[in-house]
Amino acid sequence: MASDAFKELGVTPIRVASGRGVKPHVSLGFNDTDGKERFFSVDTTCFSKKMLQPDCYLITHAHSDHYGKSAMKSNLSAASTETAEALEILHEREFNGLSFEVGEKFYAGGTEVSTFHTGHTIGSTAYYWENENGVRILVTGDVKDYSSLPCCDVLVTEANYGNPHDSTCYFEDDVNSLIEATDRGNVVFGAYAFGKAQRAVSLLRNSGFDDAIGMSSRSLRLTQSLLPDAGELVGINDGADVCIVAPHELSTTNNMLHRFVLTSSNYYYYPTIQISDHTDVRGLLGMVAHCKTETALIYHPKGDNPKIFSSYLNGKVCNAIALEDIAPTKNKS
Ligand SMILES: [Zn+2]
Repeated sequence: MASDAFKELGVTPIRVASGRGVKPHVSLGFNDTDGKERFFSVDTTCFSKKMLQPDCYLITHAHSDHYGKSAMKSNLSAASTETAEALEILHEREFNGLSFEVGEKFYAGGTEVSTFHTGHTIGSTAYYWENENGVRILVTGDVKDYSSLPCCDVLVTEANYGNPHDSTCYFEDDVNSLIEATDRGNVVFGAYAFGKAQRAVSLLRNSGFDDAIGMSSRSLRLTQSLLPDAGELVGINDGADVCIVAPHELSTTNNMLHRFVLTSSNYYYYPTIQISDHTDVRGLLGMVAHCKTETALIYHPKGDNPKIFSSYLNGKVCNAIALEDIAPTKNKS
């Protein structure tokens, strides 16, 4: 059983039962290099006061399905400076935790935590520890680019596009179409305000496009705050020939001739251009190989993909379980 593999390595993945449900996502228990018992909770909501508090609430990035909106209230939370800033802009409240620069180490409850880039959003962070047995543990959050990630024995990762039998889990970014559409002008792109909008601006600037880009207000604020070298950014009604709005705002941009959604999804009314914040299933498998991992826990997202990806890994690559395979446990102080 793959869960025995975790036991042998001295790492206990825990799903915390709460009320009638289960807290998102996962907690990890292990003894740190000083032999101290530690309990880290990843991408979850704050625990009630009656519950045993973790040593740290780790936030991998500021997308809502990773629950930073709740965890940011706790002074036990940790997030990169960019993630903390994005959470403050998105939720208009103060980030109460500890922040760090991605790539640097920090101490959580006296235990050293290393951090790595994953390229998913500005500030997205993978967390890494060694336990008292020298077992290397890595939690990635969502991943676009695994090249900075270290080797590990235990990999806790995602499977947003983790179904090897689904053709939509195979894709490549179509930057050429983005640039061609931009060259035609009078164009508006639908892109999520946090993550995709900054990726779009970076891609356009890297392609040599240096005219003003119009953005709707939240995208504009996030991009101005988080993206250095964003170039000239203006409001959506300031006459820019190339604009970026949230996908749901596309219908309000009748003044523009061309409209596209930047996405890997195919459920939009408007034509799409393939630009993703994620790696595809080949990239996820590439990451597992790159990290030379022995044992994996697929902890995100909801739905079938974690089970499908972990079954695939189990047969061919390494020991693996999905979060759903772990029975929830009560966590009382
Ligand atoms: Zn995400």
